[in-house]
Amino acid sequence: MKAYKVQKLINKVLEVYPDEKLDLKFGSPFELLVASILSARAKDEVVNQATEKLFQVYKTPEDFSKLKPEDLEPFISRINYWYKKAQIIIEASKLLLESYGGKVPESKDELLKIKGVGSKTANMILGGAFGKPAVVVDTHLDRVSKRLGLVSEKAKPDEVEAEIKKIVPEKDWTRFSFALMRHGKKICHAKNPECESCPFSDLCEFFNSR
Ligand code: SF4
Repeated sequence: MKAYKVQKLINKVLEVYPDEKLDLKFGSPFELLVASILSARAKDEVVNQATEKLFQVYKTPEDFSKLKPEDLEPFISRINYWYKKAQIIIEASKLLLESYGGKVPESKDELLKIKGVGSKTANMILGGAFGKPAVVVDTHLDRVSKRLGLVSEKAKPDEVEAEIKKIVPEKDWTRFSFALMRHGKKICHAKNPECESCPFSDLCEFFNSR
């Protein structure tokens, strides 16, 4: 895609979705860490229903570090792989207490040392909870950025992140990520994208190549 079209598209995306937020509900970086671990291969709505009650009872790494996975069953048993995820959350809580004074670290390198935290989750925490510039490559951003023609079709998640970082100004990385995630959920579905009502169709490579 030509540079001027890329720029036009980025501006349009930020204009249509100026201030999107994550769908996961959280009240602190630690709660977002817990919610994002629970959200792997699970719907955000199901996670939000669970964490609404969970976070009324357990809120901090200290609270979670004292638990056994079974203690979380009443709250999270409807979530896929709940037992494994409970183990990961409890381990992560212990690590935060032992190595980070009970706080979620604010650097990607440190976040990646937490078992269960990959690049997507680390970036989600940096961007969503700490307000730092981060490109969050979830399934929606991956699909939409490829369909639009902003990144190459075969790019792996780390390559998608690198390509987006090259074309979007750093101050807009998080905002742009959340915008494409919203667009993927709302209009550019994996199956049957609603191209006829898409505000980006005139610039979209997928649409214009059909
Ligand atoms: S035109 Fe269609 S494929 Fe392209 S971004 Fe919009 S919904 Fe997705």
